Amino acid sequence: STPAAIASGLSAGARRGLLIKGGLPLETLSRVKTIAFDKTGTLTAGRPRVTDLIAFGKSEDEVLARAAAVEKGSSHPLAKAILVAAEEKGVKIPTGFGASAIAGKGATARLTDGFVLVGSPRHAAETSSLPEEVATRIRTLEDEGKTVVVVSAGKTVEGIIAMRDEPRADAREAILNLRARGIRPLMLTGDNARTGKAIASALALDVEAELLPHDKLKRIEALKRDGGVAMIGDGINDAPALAAASVGVAMGGGTDVALETADAALLQNNVSGVVDLVDLSRATLGNIR
Ligand code: ADP
Ligand code: MG
Repeated sequence: STPAAIASGLSAGARRGLLIKGGLPLETLSRVKTIAFDKTGTLTAGRPRVTDLIAFGKSEDEVLARAAAVEKGSSHPLAKAILVAAEEKGVKIPTGFGASAIAGKGATARLTDGFVLVGSPRHAAETSSLPEEVATRIRTLEDEGKTVVVVSAGKTVEGIIAMRDEPRADAREAILNLRARGIRPLMLTGDNARTGKAIASALALDVEAELLPHDKLKRIEALKRDGGVAMIGDGINDAPALAAASVGVAMGGGTDVALETADAALLQNNVSGVVDLVDLSRATLGNIR
């Protein structure tokens, strides 16, 4: 064997901000057929901004304030976007009790007049009835690549909030470069299918959307059996998929949990690092063969 070639590959990577935890991940990387990406915080910057707010019955400020009360305890990027918007508008955020996250679906809290839910349209439709007019506006916003959340109290829809999270500047080029290397890039997202499709087509990759955390894990396990898969992610919610993949790669700006779970990390925190990683693995393994 040539441990020396592996060692020099690992240190060449480290010099370029590609931290790889050993020879095995490097070797596995050189052979993967698919590279699966998380969307939020990985292909996008992970800093969504509120672009549209439509209120029904209440004022826009009131809907924003109530949504912010629900999102106060959440660390989700969408929650942060809503809190930033509330702060920028200077609305007074009411006190929420027992705020809790519903993974992949939304968040809820009890305000003085009852429970309020901020969640995906799909999840909101399970508890409230979305009037056709509301559903149409949601679809239009989603086709623009925006993520829409519904603010509801019981069966009543109080408003919708749309947010846009810009793709990372180098994402499209990096995706095309992976394709050129014979790898299939794929986006896995919990976001709805329309938003996922709009962003995926801008970045020229395939997408599977509306995946709950356990669905993502199942897809990764299947892709692992089918020729090997590298999973690229940044969040706590990505940790199970990073662990299950043939190789898990964390974005450098990601959470500690993702960095600890992954087999490799991209300190530059950009998508092109994935292409560099593939090239490094192939060059190193080429040295061995
Ligand atoms: P992603 O795969 O893009 O990281 P998630 O699995 O974290 O997405 O979330 C999927 C969807 O669930 C979001 O697009 C949103 O509609 C809803 N959601 C999750 N967390 C929240 C939250 N804190 N507030 C509002 N909606 C949320
Ligand atoms: Mg993410």
